[in-house]
Amino acid sequence: MSTVWMNELSWVDYQARMANDKPPILLPVGALEQHGPHLPLGTDGLLSAAVAADAAARVGGLVAPTLSYGYKSQPKCGGGQHFCGTTSVDAATLIGSVRDAVREFARHGVTKLVILNGHYENQWFLIEGIDLGLRDVGPGARLEVMRLEYWDFMTPETLAHVFTDGFPGFALEHAAVLETSMMLHYPRRWCGSI
Ligand SMILES: [Zn+2]
Repeated sequence: MSTVWMNELSWVDYQARMANDKPPILLPVGALEQHGPHLPLGTDGLLSAAVAADAAARVGGLVAPTLSYGYKSQPKCGGGQHFCGTTSVDAATLIGSVRDAVREFARHGVTKLVILNGHYENQWFLIEGIDLGLRDVGPGARLEVMRLEYWDFMTPETLAHVFTDGFPGFALEHAAVLETSMMLHYPRRWCGSI
């Protein structure tokens, strides 16, 4: 069976992949927060997982299960913590989760790890988790980690085409044109592995 989802492999199949083709691992990170009345609470994780699955299919990678809880929602880029359903973690929790993931994937022999973020507020805490994780494993692990937000790849041409009155910036795009369009674009089968 060919799958991009790591959690659908047995451990022996995963071990064989690590021994043979050493697939890059993509770890989506999201959040559980209000996304207006029309989008799911888990939009950030669903989209980062969907983009990760697309990328993994193209490069022979594997997508690890999403870190589905993100750092606290902020009023200027997510609405704030007062919404029912918004369920956030402390910075230390997110940093620790990423640090643990870096260490564990290094132990598996992974050499390329992509932390693919879908929640604006997560960014600096992911960097800290990666930094601490790489410090834990040391240079002998030969692990390279890339952190990115999927919106990094929106070209100026696309933004100009979509936002004819001017692009307001990604922070203000929460639950707006970009996320709504992407949720319409991705069929359900891409939106998570469970
Ligand atoms: Zn979002």
